[in-house]
Amino acid sequence: MSTLNGTATADRYVVIGNPIAHSKSPAIHAHFSLLTAQLIDYQRLLAPLDGFAQTVLSFRDSGGKGANVTVPFKLEAFALATQLTPRAQAAGAVNTLKFEGAVILGDNTDGQGLVADIVRNARVTLQGKRVLLLGAGGAARGALLPLLEQQPAQLVIANRTVARAEELVLLAHQYEPLAGIASIVTSSAFSDVNGEFDIVINATSASLHDDVPPVSSGIFTANTLAYDMMYGAAPTAFLRFAASHEAQIRDGLGMLVEQAAVAFALWRGVLPETASVLAELRSALMAAARSS
Ligand code: NDP
Repeated sequence: MSTLNGTATADRYVVIGNPIAHSKSPAIHAHFSLLTAQLIDYQRLLAPLDGFAQTVLSFRDSGGKGANVTVPFKLEAFALATQLTPRAQAAGAVNTLKFEGAVILGDNTDGQGLVADIVRNARVTLQGKRVLLLGAGGAARGALLPLLEQQPAQLVIANRTVARAEELVLLAHQYEPLAGIASIVTSSAFSDVNGEFDIVINATSASLHDDVPPVSSGIFTANTLAYDMMYGAAPTAFLRFAASHEAQIRDGLGMLVEQAAVAFALWRGVLPETASVLAELRSALMAAARSS
């Protein structure tokens, strides 16, 4: 909270993107604000495609305390940050900024959000498990370090462009704090993935086109958790494919809520409860689908 002429005013935060009208972040943070009794004001902020840094700096100079960053600015936010958390460094992308005097701290909470949704909400442990990560774009890269910190037995990264999966493997091997466990990470083409996995995470954008990465159905068992980072009122093509081979399925709505909670904690020092927010968002999503 800040004070202006002796009157308490809410600290201001924004989510910056282009487009931004669809963002659910203001609703999520409004819930967190109520749940934690932390008075914040959180709005959407549209930045011109060629004006991200200027938009951030003028928001900060007007007294803004922090920002979430979404498509297409996560790489520019990484470049703008003057300090980075280790997970932002490993991700090579930033989705959360915190302004502390002259310092612009950049964090990446997407991967932590994914892990929290799997471990806490779905109650599936990653430790000692065989994990398959499909995709090697920004979301997969952000997930790499938080997934490895859970110490799975094996992490296979499969991607359409195999060279990008190989880059992620190299990144894991070069990252000092992971020395010793990075050897469990390997890359693969979709068609070469074999064996059964405990957890299969779809971090490709194939679901946007109702597509499924061409992996064998033999990766799934009745005990596999198939997770799609994309979310919607209906299961994605990947989740339908996994369910038709007996896997348990989960979409990325919980990841969205959890990444927001981690950002809120970075700004406010309090980790909000998320279950009620997730339940409310889920019913809003279903209601919107029924009325359309
Ligand atoms: P990027 O554009 O950075 O990466 C896209 C990835 O998908 C690449 O690995 C690409 O492979 C692969 N890909 C694209 N099309 C296909 C296809 N038809 N078949 C197989 N692979 C394909 O996207 P992001 O990493 O930012 O996002 C990925 C997904 O994660 C999106 O669906 C996004 O909505 C979701 N997401 C969800 C979040 C949440 O909070 N729930 C947060 C962030 C992302 P290649 O390298 O060969 O091009």
